[in-house]
Amino acid sequence: MSNIVAIVGRPNVGKSTLFNRLLERREAIVDATSGVTRDRHYGKSDWNGVEFTVIDTGGYEVNTEDVFQEEISKQVQLAIDEATSIIFMLNVDEGLTDTDQEIFEMLRRSNKPIYITINKVDSAKEELAATEFYQLGIDRYFTMSSASGSGTGELLDAIVKEFPTTDYKDPFEGLPKITIAGRPNVGKSTLTNALLDVERNIVTDIAGTTRDSIQTLYNKFGYEFVLVDTAGMRRKAKVKEDLEFYSVMRSVRSIEYSDVVIIMVDATLGWESQDMNIFGLAQKNRKGIVIVVNKWDLVEDKSTNTTRDFENQIKERIGQFTDIPILFVSALTKQRILKAVEMAMEVYENRAKKIKTSKLNEVMLPVFEHTPPPATKGKFVKIKYCVQLPTPSPQFVFFCNLPQYVKEPYKRFAENQLRKHFGFTGVPIEVYFRQK
Ligand code: GDP
Ligand code: GDP
Repeated sequence: MSNIVAIVGRPNVGKSTLFNRLLERREAIVDATSGVTRDRHYGKSDWNGVEFTVIDTGGYEVNTEDVFQEEISKQVQLAIDEATSIIFMLNVDEGLTDTDQEIFEMLRRSNKPIYITINKVDSAKEELAATEFYQLGIDRYFTMSSASGSGTGELLDAIVKEFPTTDYKDPFEGLPKITIAGRPNVGKSTLTNALLDVERNIVTDIAGTTRDSIQTLYNKFGYEFVLVDTAGMRRKAKVKEDLEFYSVMRSVRSIEYSDVVIIMVDATLGWESQDMNIFGLAQKNRKGIVIVVNKWDLVEDKSTNTTRDFENQIKERIGQFTDIPILFVSALTKQRILKAVEMAMEVYENRAKKIKTSKLNEVMLPVFEHTPPPATKGKFVKIKYCVQLPTPSPQFVFFCNLPQYVKEPYKRFAENQLRKHFGFTGVPIEVYFRQK
């Protein structure tokens, strides 16, 4: 279970600078190989081998004064709802402001661990000035210069050491976990309720509820699975999720808890940038994906052409990973909702699939023999054997003599061949070429 660290504070205190610093180290190591591009407000980091997720809550730019207060309190509420630890960043140059006091009041009322961090402490002079923040009535604060990185280590040491213990025992461990994600009003609750209606045998995990995540067990037509819903999603009246940024951030945790994400799209609106963000989150976390186009009852012309056009429109926008099931449903009339569950289960199986090394080599080596990577500087790449790693989502390593000569197009070719021969519909795959 991943710990989530949120950075809150007024604009310009240095949140993004710290966010980028936390992500950089890891990006250099991990993302250079996978070619993943980073989201501006959300990413993975680690400290002394402990992984965590970072959210920069300053994702929404504000202009006028009164929108400003409202925005800040939304950002703080988001952090309180979604994060396991909160970095409250202050700016030593500006000293303690009224807004800072208000933010602190909100944070204090939550029972999340808060790390008060005075930023822009670039020298001893500011170190002294930082003592002003004791006015908040606190016993401890951290000072840092997020621009130079000094002080980051002490802060991270404390955060990581004090991460909430993960001794929580998941009562549904081992069962497929599915979440329904999507923009506000696409029909997520309607689908959830429709599934509740067709099934009386449900158990809700009360322990999970206290962890801010609701898990509901379904036992349906031979399928057993758990629907994951975050408190943030259910408590929708509390913060009106009118902004793209918030509704995407609210999906972060339920996506991380799940094996498969059902991305719900509104048929009357089509695939929009926010859907893309949710898709990106699921893909980056290597979750299984099923796209469900809801409110199909409202579409007049339901000919094959319409569905094909809709499918093509989505596939053109989602990038290279297009081997994804797309279903057309109506949560309201319950049309094809069980098909959606069936698909999610199929994708779950695909994600958990392990190909035996002997079978993998038997199939893939002749493919590579027949279509080898193009020669570079007169040198030929020879792929000698391959294995699937024992990871939760499919990752493959191809051992060869000159991995540095294997370029992106050939990696995609390898991936597509794996998909063609072994069936990984709905599942992101990683392919690595290594020296042997
Ligand atoms: P955000 O709005 O809270 O995300 O703040 P930014 O990270 O965008 O930083 C706002 C400004 O403060 C930028 O011009 C940064 O270069 C500057 N800044 C950030 N951290 C430091 C620091 O540690 N020392 C100094 N002197 N400037 C900083
Ligand atoms: P959520 O915000 O994603 O949970 O969306 P809701 O489930 O609250 O649905 C938002 C609105 O869309 C409600 O008025 C629903 O009745 C309506 N709605 C949901 N699914 C369908 C559908 O399949 N067809 C039609 N016509 N309306 C739907």
